[in-house]
Amino acid sequence: MFDDLLQGNAQYAKNFPYRGLPGAPAHGLLIVTCMDSRLDPLEIFGLKVGQAIVLRTPGGFLKPNTLAGAISAVHKLNVDRIVVLEHTNCTMASTDEPGLRAAIAKHAGQPAGDLVFGADPNQDQHLRDDVETLRNHALIKGFAEVGGFMYDVETGQVTQVC
Ligand SMILES: [Zn+2]
Repeated sequence: MFDDLLQGNAQYAKNFPYRGLPGAPAHGLLIVTCMDSRLDPLEIFGLKVGQAIVLRTPGGFLKPNTLAGAISAVHKLNVDRIVVLEHTNCTMASTDEPGLRAAIAKHAGQPAGDLVFGADPNQDQHLRDDVETLRNHALIKGFAEVGGFMYDVETGQVTQVC
């Protein structure tokens, strides 16, 4: 089931270029973004391994763990810039929570349980709210700049929203 991945890794490890890289990102940057397979957060900004930390969530929406990761990165890994990057045509913004729960339950043939999946069709407002949450957090304010951005999956272009 995973043989293709291990074969891919064998090739990767043959000429491994990242030995000795520090954990702190060279560009002092942390990116919060969606799990969508069309997004390569480093490539999108012309970055390479070791230059930014990437935290991915469904929809790129801020979760308690994401906030904890951001605060840890600010105070332990020299992060002073945080980018929240959402994207067009996002599954998590294409429906609301009841709609997503119903779709998962239908596919699974059983109830979706008590997990909160976090779907939100109000993507623009959610992005603005998440950026405000990060900007105003006592452990981030004054330590890191925070910006909210939108990535167009059809053009590759990023625009700043807030
Ligand atoms: Zn998405």
